[in-house]
Amino acid sequence: MNEYNSENKKYWVRLTRVCNNNCLFCLDADEQNGSYEPTESILALLREGRARGFDQAVLSGGEPTLHPDFFAIVSETKKMEYRRTQTITNGRMFSYAGFAERAVAAGLDEATFSLHAGAPSAFETLTRTPGSYDEALKGFMRAAKLSGLAVSVDILLTASTIPSLTDWIKRLSDLGASEFDILYPIPFGEAWKHKNDIFFNLDESAKDIVKAFEFCEERGVKAWSNRIPARVFEGAERFIQSPLKLRVEVEAKRGMFEDLANRGVEPPCSGDRCAFCHVTDFCRSLRKFSGAIASKKSPSIIITENNVARLGGGFPYEPETIVIDGLGILENEQMKRYFLKRDIRIEAIINKPFENYQRIPDIVSTVYLEINRETAKNLSNIGSALLDKVELKIIMRGRATLEETLGKDIPIAGFMREFLRSGNMEIEILNVPRCLTGREEMRVFDAVPANVFKSSGEIDLDEYVGCYMANWMSEKSARCAGCSHYADCPGIHINHVRAFGFSNIPFGI
Ligand code: SF4
Ligand code: SF4
Repeated sequence: MNEYNSENKKYWVRLTRVCNNNCLFCLDADEQNGSYEPTESILALLREGRARGFDQAVLSGGEPTLHPDFFAIVSETKKMEYRRTQTITNGRMFSYAGFAERAVAAGLDEATFSLHAGAPSAFETLTRTPGSYDEALKGFMRAAKLSGLAVSVDILLTASTIPSLTDWIKRLSDLGASEFDILYPIPFGEAWKHKNDIFFNLDESAKDIVKAFEFCEERGVKAWSNRIPARVFEGAERFIQSPLKLRVEVEAKRGMFEDLANRGVEPPCSGDRCAFCHVTDFCRSLRKFSGAIASKKSPSIIITENNVARLGGGFPYEPETIVIDGLGILENEQMKRYFLKRDIRIEAIINKPFENYQRIPDIVSTVYLEINRETAKNLSNIGSALLDKVELKIIMRGRATLEETLGKDIPIAGFMREFLRSGNMEIEILNVPRCLTGREEMRVFDAVPANVFKSSGEIDLDEYVGCYMANWMSEKSARCAGCSHYADCPGIHINHVRAFGFSNIPFGI
């Protein structure tokens, strides 16, 4: 399973603003001015990273190996007790006799080579640098021969390289590559200027991409999918990238997303690029949410045992609706008084089999019954048992992790078949696409946990990312393209797709 390790404590430090290649897709071109970062500044940053608890140093650029103090900087990372030191390189410096050996002697643990194509002409069309193929491959082979140095490879997917992707991976693996990071292009830097050469028809290329991942799996070589849209992996969902990677993407542009969240400043990249962008759904979600907050629309707030204390003081809003996630909270008399005093509408999420909750407190006006392994066992008479007392809705919930999904949920397609057969047609179903419910409307549950707001009233970006990943990060199948609901349907939650497959979307099968 393609699980991303969020505990990975990698600390990226730029060494140069110069590169000896001139890649057609370079994301860094706008940052380059031909200079080296001052060594003292680099070391100060590395010390800061260590103090913040990072234990893996990633030396990047531009091209980091061009820095005149490259070996000394590697050596310093070891003195600072970084557990692992890695560099991201075009590989050409490693072709010089003794370079790889000196790097290893200084303490380099891993070199990640950017080797995007197996054919010299395709390679140099991408690097726009004659001779770069021979040097890079020679550098890679020299490094791969050294014990004590892990060699991994970055491969950017482009129209010209995808058809021979598996052959290229096989060759590099035969030569000693231990790991591959297979990247989907993003619409920035040089890649956007050359978008017609870089972007490609994803659905036509899906078979070749999956074949490469299957090859790596058979061979026992790790392959990470990096920003590759999930729909590519229909039938091979184990290769879908973990949604946790979104945190890294947001961190890389934190200032921009903070501006969007709390100051309503539209990102400077907004426009034509968004249709090609890997974070377009997140960006749209944040824009809509911050716009609603700015125009004083009060979202429903989810209260759990873990965040109930936020209501005691310092919560910046007077919500109209509070959704209790765990009825035990209502047994707290102080909380009950808080709710009554403020004339707040109280709703509740129930995640246990229904018969355990005959005594729903009067204060609750709406119950959301969560679909999960336990509640799904008791489908009959759900409506008649409670409909006379409260408004009852059924909700498919997203989960923060794959493990949680596998532990709690059941495939939604099977559940819906049983549910509709059981005759509960009058009950509203949230977060389930119309191809599964057969209904005219699909409502998305849009309440947010109290933690999404700081005491100041600002949106807490990290909490919002967590909320988005756990609740709204959804995917559609490539088959959905033919559906009349495509434009306003989010699909099903990414971790549900990873756990139970795209086959849970019945449309077009
Ligand atoms: S989706 Fe957001 S980050 Fe991506 S190009 Fe558009 S505005 Fe920029
Ligand atoms: S867009 Fe896809 S998931 Fe949504 S209703 Fe249509 S077929 Fe179903």
